[in-house]
Amino acid sequence: MESKVVGLLGGGQLGRMFLEAANRLNIKVNVLDAPNAPAKQISNHDGHFDGSFKDPEAVKKLSKTCDVVTVEIEHVNTQVLEEISGEVAVEPSWKTIRTIQDKYAQKEHLQKHNVATAESLPLESNTVEELEKVGQKLGLPFMLKSRTEAYDGRGNYPVKSSSDFEGALKALGQKPLYAEKWANFKMELAVMVVKGKDQVLAYPAVETIHEDSICKLVYAPARNVPSSITKKAQELAKKAVSCFWGKGVFGVEMFLNQDDSLLINEIAPRPHNSGHYTIEACPMSQYEAHLRAILDLHLDEEGVQPYRPSVMLNILGGASPQSAAEVAKKATEQSTALRVHMYAKGDARPGRKMGHITVLGSSMAKAEGLMKPMIDVVDEVRR
Ligand code: ATP
Ligand code: MG
Ligand code: MG
Repeated sequence: MESKVVGLLGGGQLGRMFLEAANRLNIKVNVLDAPNAPAKQISNHDGHFDGSFKDPEAVKKLSKTCDVVTVEIEHVNTQVLEEISGEVAVEPSWKTIRTIQDKYAQKEHLQKHNVATAESLPLESNTVEELEKVGQKLGLPFMLKSRTEAYDGRGNYPVKSSSDFEGALKALGQKPLYAEKWANFKMELAVMVVKGKDQVLAYPAVETIHEDSICKLVYAPARNVPSSITKKAQELAKKAVSCFWGKGVFGVEMFLNQDDSLLINEIAPRPHNSGHYTIEACPMSQYEAHLRAILDLHLDEEGVQPYRPSVMLNILGGASPQSAAEVAKKATEQSTALRVHMYAKGDARPGRKMGHITVLGSSMAKAEGLMKPMIDVVDEVRR
């Protein structure tokens, strides 16, 4: 149906689920990543490239084989994306990816467009004196963050008192850093936004629960949040995404403050963990939405309306290499309502995203009830 070919930088779990959507529509996606990357395992054609998605030469080679280049990860080389953008479409734009991949630049950009974010200060030097200075301006605690290469909370260090300064610099001191005012939120929300060629659509506002800065659970829609607030969250997410360039899906993470005001935490220029639930819960998954957006295929509001409430639980690597496989096995034995997705990443390492489970319910309480035993199982294997 669609003869355009997509080139994808990165073939991890997001790429794999993107391929699932593309396969169903017979759309060819050429992946650049290590041999046997999770996305390549489900796509048997000879258009893939082995190599690093950060390697400019490999990106150029890939770009010669496709009509649109896109990403499953923002930590890519945007110089080469800028270079190739004269010959091939790059979606979302390299400018968007470049701005977003530096979290401080991302925040400055949002603030310039009157989108509220946590107050942020760049560090002029990675020293105790500089931490004292930002601590005086932002107050304690604050969150010290790596400007670049951050994911799954690995670039974050909560600085609770001056006795944490040394530890924070030891953990993150090799990276460019900025400090963020502590957000005393009552809940974290996320909205997947689809930016097409002439429309911007929002999936519902979902509730995300993080443990040690890594996403654990997603409740779609957010529980016990009045629709006046979820609507505000959707509007804010659309406004935030609209100030970036290009097409695709974007994951917008937000803090819901004690006074019900909203702040943007960060934006991902790609499919996102908080949108996995859309595979089962919506007519159009976030992956299909990304495909439709970057290829200028039809999009409409119907696709982003969930059929029923859902809960998504991440399967993270635990203490043993087999931990994730054990969780998956228990889930398949417990109920066929539990939709298990494993990413085929091999052995589990602690904290690594290995798979996820989604369940739909006729009510949120039903979905929660079905997921509850699995939350106990993942808590058990993490110990
Ligand atoms: P991701 O995997 O979502 O890309 P990341 O490594 O980019 O994660 P952030 O999203 O910046 O990290 O932070 C991870 C989590 O840490 C947030 O979801 C939130 O729970 C907590 N957090 C981040 N910033 C703050 C803050 N300013 N105040 C309080 N908690 C925060
Ligand atoms: Mg991030
Ligand atoms: Mg985040």
